Amino acid sequence: MNKLFGLTILTVMFFGAMPSSAQAQYTRQDSLRGSITPERIWWDLTYYHLDVNVDIDNKFISGKNEVHFKVLTPNEVMQIDLQPPMTIDKVLQNGKVLKVRHETNAHFIELTEMQREGAQMQLDIYYSGNPIEAKNAPWDGGIVWSKDKKGNPFVASACQGIGASVWWPCKDHSYDEPDSMLISATVPAELMDVSNGRLRKVDENGDGTKTYHWFVSNPINNYGVNINIGNYAHFSEQYEGEKGSLDMDYYVLKYNLKKAKKQFKQAVMTIEALEHWFGPYPFYEDGYKLVEAPYLGMEHQSSVTYGNGYSNGYKGRDLSSSGWGMKFDFIIVHESGHEWFANNITNIDVADMWIHESFTSYSENLFLDYHFGNKASSEYVIGTRLNIVNDEPIIVDYGVNQRGSIDIYYKGSNILHTLRQIVNDDEKWRQTLRGLNKEFYHQTVSTKQVENFISQQVGINLRSFFDQYLRDARIPVLEYFIKDNTLNARWTNCLTEFDMPLKIRSNGNEHWINPSTEWQALDLNDSIDSIQIDKNFYVGSMDVLGSQKN
Ligand SMILES: [Zn+2]
Repeated sequence: MNKLFGLTILTVMFFGAMPSSAQAQYTRQDSLRGSITPERIWWDLTYYHLDVNVDIDNKFISGKNEVHFKVLTPNEVMQIDLQPPMTIDKVLQNGKVLKVRHETNAHFIELTEMQREGAQMQLDIYYSGNPIEAKNAPWDGGIVWSKDKKGNPFVASACQGIGASVWWPCKDHSYDEPDSMLISATVPAELMDVSNGRLRKVDENGDGTKTYHWFVSNPINNYGVNINIGNYAHFSEQYEGEKGSLDMDYYVLKYNLKKAKKQFKQAVMTIEALEHWFGPYPFYEDGYKLVEAPYLGMEHQSSVTYGNGYSNGYKGRDLSSSGWGMKFDFIIVHESGHEWFANNITNIDVADMWIHESFTSYSENLFLDYHFGNKASSEYVIGTRLNIVNDEPIIVDYGVNQRGSIDIYYKGSNILHTLRQIVNDDEKWRQTLRGLNKEFYHQTVSTKQVENFISQQVGINLRSFFDQYLRDARIPVLEYFIKDNTLNARWTNCLTEFDMPLKIRSNGNEHWINPSTEWQALDLNDSIDSIQIDKNFYVGSMDVLGSQKN
């Protein structure tokens, strides 16, 4: 989700930084967490039943996770992740206690015997501990133990980045997801737990606690799994969407009910706009929920968490400085946008996280485009360039749980906005975005798959475009001069093969030019004495001879 810093206004850095030559140092723990290790690759997750007891007074979690899996190739050692200070108390397979070798966050479980290819197996992992407390969720992660204004406990998990293994034992890598999941949370009887999917039943335990069982009938990514415990009120509505009637349920603190009924009208507006651009909401079976949480928000699958104070903007501010950012509630739109990009289409490696954040940041201006028109959308996305730093490439290193620069957000959305200009056919562009969600429905994918799909759909080879904007920190600059009423231009500050077409205006006429990295005199069939570059393209420009006459 969104990890925007306190949003210092950053200078637009057209020239950016050169690709970093300093290699980051990675540890064995980074590789164990971030790669598909031999102890992970041989088994395919099919189902989790996470069953947790939340002891709020002692900030203590205990329980078990049933891990169901299919054996892809015979093996007998399985890697499960759980971060200290949480501990694995015991692991059982067919009633037998298994040996476990611990290596900080990774735990290597020796199964009872060599697992037979094709077999469907199960392990029960018992665990407990005082999980890391999130001090500044969602920027850090762990469990938030707080109280609402009336003094009631208000508790939630948030673990993007740090990983789900901060609070429950799992295969903590995004490449593999269970096909479905049951989350059972035992909480004080006067409170309620809201997790993902649909509430299947509530057990009254007779000991001052209740157990809420939430079932998710679709694949779910690890960090999307959540618990939210509070003194909730509930209201709901139906949305007649592209795939039928969508259940939209809202859980908010009782004293915020009135404000929520007003502000959450934007939930339907969001689903309507994003279905138009991205295709059907990807989890009709599990419904859509907006759940108040004691922190800003997160894209928890089918239970989007909300803490934006029931006001528009991002914590009441406009991230674009264009005015348009105050026309919508940032958390409702952004976090719901992730249902398509993060939850439906999930990155296979953290290095590919731009797939989550760039498309979702882009969904903010698609929301504006749908409800307020094209001008609003352009002004917003261009305004968000203030947040771009161009410090390092959007994609850095694979296999080490390392995401790219903060630019996965607004440089990413500007890349997609630029691409929309290049495609120059909004319906084709919309069908491409919808096509992504259909082609990669409920899948974990790589950047290459996304790139290739887009290139194929729009019928343009975008290889150098994506290499430049995703794998290089520099922003291309159009160098030009006008001589004898002719425009001479080339791309610089870029890869040698970069050759993006560009829209310019001259004397009130619109022209497409096709510069390369070699100087060319461009025949525009027009007498040129000045040019304006279409500001929808995220590029720099420089009149090298100061030849422009305006
Ligand atoms: Zn986000």
